[in-house]
Amino acid sequence: MKFSPHAWAKLIYLRDRGTTEVGGFGITDPGQPRFVKDIVLVSQSCTEITVAFDDTAVADFFDDQIDAGRHPEQFARIWIHTHPGRSAEPSGVDHETFARVFGNCDWAVMFILARNGATYAELKRTGNPHSEPLSVGIDFRDEFAGSNQAVWEGEYLRCVQAAPMPPIWDLDLLPGDEPYLSEQWPWLPI
Ligand SMILES: [Zn+2]
Repeated sequence: MKFSPHAWAKLIYLRDRGTTEVGGFGITDPGQPRFVKDIVLVSQSCTEITVAFDDTAVADFFDDQIDAGRHPEQFARIWIHTHPGRSAEPSGVDHETFARVFGNCDWAVMFILARNGATYAELKRTGNPHSEPLSVGIDFRDEFAGSNQAVWEGEYLRCVQAAPMPPIWDLDLLPGDEPYLSEQWPWLPI
């Protein structure tokens, strides 16, 4: 999969804006399903290890995108989120969310960008029980617009609500990989 320079810069801004994870949807043009030209946030409640989208906000986002003339393939297939730690490996909750929320789509991508630049991208297709790893790149070939941090900041403030960390007894679902947890949260009983 590829990102536009604009989308990539925005994602880095959002990743580094706070201490929590941040999530959104990738926007694509018709005929270019793996080229993310923009990223849109929805209202969400975030911790350092979780993102929970607000259901109403997701419904509103879908309505807005349909009103803008886009098809679901262009806005509801690429789930993007950041990890404030070093690992981009999905957690158990990430895998569960991806399967539950996107399991009925003909295809969907889970993309994760970690603080240190590590990436993870996985494509799932209907009828294929195995997901496919995707390579990740930034496509600089076309002209691209400059950054727009004032607008990104507004979107961040509008959408991202930091929440308390989940209680420790809920975390047994979360560990995706032990090194990540042991480096980031040495207090976790792993
Ligand atoms: Zn995650």
